[in-house]
Amino acid sequence: MRTLPNFIGGEFVESNSGNRLEKFDPATAEVIASVTASDHQDVEQAVAAARLAFPSWSRTPTAERARLLLALASKIEQHQESLAVAETRDTGKPIRLSRSVDIPRAAANFRFFATAILHAHSEAYRTDNQALNYTLRQPRGVAGLISPWNLPLYLLSWKIAPALATGNTVVAKPSELTPTTATLLAELAHEVGIPAGVLNVVHGQGAAAGAALVAHPQVPTISFTGGTVTGAAIAQAAAPLFKKLTLELGGKNPTILFADANLEEAVAGSLRAAFENQGEICLCGSRIFVERAIYQRFLDRFVAATLRLKLGDPLDENTQQGALISAQHRERVEQYIELAKSEGGALLCGGQRPTLEGRCRNGYFLQPTIVTALPIRCRVNLEEIFGPVVTISPFDTEQEVIEAANATPFGLSASIWTNHLGRAHRVAEQLECGTVWVNCWLLRDLRVPFGGIKSSGVGKEGGDEALRFFTEAKTVCVSYPSVDEKPT
Ligand code: NDP
Repeated sequence: MRTLPNFIGGEFVESNSGNRLEKFDPATAEVIASVTASDHQDVEQAVAAARLAFPSWSRTPTAERARLLLALASKIEQHQESLAVAETRDTGKPIRLSRSVDIPRAAANFRFFATAILHAHSEAYRTDNQALNYTLRQPRGVAGLISPWNLPLYLLSWKIAPALATGNTVVAKPSELTPTTATLLAELAHEVGIPAGVLNVVHGQGAAAGAALVAHPQVPTISFTGGTVTGAAIAQAAAPLFKKLTLELGGKNPTILFADANLEEAVAGSLRAAFENQGEICLCGSRIFVERAIYQRFLDRFVAATLRLKLGDPLDENTQQGALISAQHRERVEQYIELAKSEGGALLCGGQRPTLEGRCRNGYFLQPTIVTALPIRCRVNLEEIFGPVVTISPFDTEQEVIEAANATPFGLSASIWTNHLGRAHRVAEQLECGTVWVNCWLLRDLRVPFGGIKSSGVGKEGGDEALRFFTEAKTVCVSYPSVDEKPT
């Protein structure tokens, strides 16, 4: 069993209270780690360490910051297997995903922002013959970074990398449900020589450690990824302190299939969008809309493909569906399945806890579940479930499906499957969300802006957006005479 301390000022330390939390493996329901339960005192200590490190780190030459972050990316790659196993044991996600997506992406995040700062540029404008204006982009100080449990290292490094690259120091608060890879990252950062206090990791519950970080007056920047309700509480706490904030929140994303789409590709793509990571990805396509002409053909194929998904031990390379994050979360998802029935839905498959043998017999597994025949505006079609539950509805016209897709309070992403070029552009323009994929899903380029609108969030991450978020623009206006004054 691992013991996971905080990482503050370059040292692994216990919390001031000495309190600890048990960390369960979702696949076995066994305790696998004991995690430090931090509170405001530990956050205070971490912020003090980060403030102390800030002047020197922010003045460290760009090339040196880039070198250290590239070294960290290489270290992650060297430790890919142990990080992948830790991520799978913390989350219950299939090891295939941790190996091919989560950990490689964490390394890619550091590599991307380490090199991005080498090419960053700022603006300059000449005001006729009077002045030259230029913009400095300066780091903001201590950044408080709070991340969820579904893509732990992937999302935490997506925040840490741009924050450190631009010269901020960091206090990171991972989800207490998935703390391990954050501690392993701190060990690797220490090994490559990232100076003490530049990266600090504080474990603990959101209501104690997370809230203290958000409320801390000397943390001017907060980047949060998590649920919409938590996001609203954070926005409320941060507003009177005038903090700079990004909120990457929940989603209820539509997958729209037109009759002219390549059906085989659309089935494969929408299946992945529905059930990847047990549906525990904010970008999952949890509402599928299918043009009526292909509705039945799609349903037959989609149900058959869902039944073929291999559910089982997340540590087995062939597993495609692992365990849900916790017993409570599985119960919450099951309540939505019951709600779907009471709202008139028909279950085409799933809805049950599978029976597994051996080490996973007590794990928090749930069969992938397909629901049809629900009204567009019922709760199951409007609220985020964040589990392996997808609804499927037919539609007749382009306008009808656009309205249905936009009917939820969320606005994170959408995917459209069609071979009609004009329609793809037309529909993409009218969908209310931050990202639209056409004939693909979750194809990510780290340079593009990423984030939601409406209840899916505020602000964008990725590429230049992240470099701007973690820096403050300062304009310098230098006046100069149009004619040289003659010395008297
Ligand atoms: P939560 O909102 O419950 O928690 C997210 C993080 O916030 C955790 O580290 C949590 O700590 C912490 N936290 C909780 N309460 C507070 C508080 N009052 N102040 C400060 N921090 C707090 O989300 P989940 O972890 O359950 O993650 C699932 C949600 O994340 C889903 O809604 C999903 O859609 C969303 N998400 C959004 C993404 C996006 O990019 N838009 C990407 C991935 C997920 P603790 O765990 O200790 O409670």
